[in-house]
Amino acid sequence: MKLVVANHKMNLTKETLVNYKETLLTFTNPEINLVVCPSLPYLDLFQNANFALGSQNVGMLEKGSLTGEVSATQLKDLGVSYCIVGHSERRTKLNETDAMINQKIKELLKQDITPILCIGETQDERSSGEITTVLEKELLGAFKDLTSDEISRVVLAYEPIWAIGTGITPTNQEIEETISQIRNILNKQVSLSLRILYGGSVNLQNITTLEQIKDLAGYLVGGSSLEINSWIQLLEQIGR
Ligand code: PEP
Repeated sequence: MKLVVANHKMNLTKETLVNYKETLLTFTNPEINLVVCPSLPYLDLFQNANFALGSQNVGMLEKGSLTGEVSATQLKDLGVSYCIVGHSERRTKLNETDAMINQKIKELLKQDITPILCIGETQDERSSGEITTVLEKELLGAFKDLTSDEISRVVLAYEPIWAIGTGITPTNQEIEETISQIRNILNKQVSLSLRILYGGSVNLQNITTLEQIKDLAGYLVGGSSLEINSWIQLLEQIGR
């Protein structure tokens, strides 16, 4: 069973989303555990569906004075069961740090919401052989002070930054090697096996190839999850 996460980012409005949800309700694939992460104002619209509800963000405090943010308690109240944290867009464009990501994961775990932690390197970091250092920094920072049991409740999304929204994907071998590097880093800290997703330009053209990857728990999908008909076509190619 694959975990497949749709990340709408800051796209789509109510008019489109009503039809999106209705069409998605007619889709079933027993091989997929589907999570939809709409933009925050539309979380409510996606309640009571046959797929899980995810948030794209959570505030780093339990409650209180943090204008514009949403707490894990409030997300739970809306039926959210997954939440993306540490997306590269938030790290680079909004200066989200590993320490903030660590706090967010702790808040989510308190509410029994599964964090989907995004990690990944830039093209420069890959070319200069810094990939392990980057992934190690992101992982150890995000998991600081967490117990092995807590870490095992997190889902990882390996998202090479150079593959996000670019139409370029690593080779299957590169993804497999990176997943094994991630497991080696974690083995130093915990001996548990985590679910690891791949994210970055997953589309109808490359999904059959990506499906050959060993040790992959699923996908995090941005652009290809926005248009409902092609999204369903893509979902139909998973786990066949
Ligand atoms: C993402 O932003 O997490 C992502 C995977 O985007 P895309 O599928 O558009 O590359």
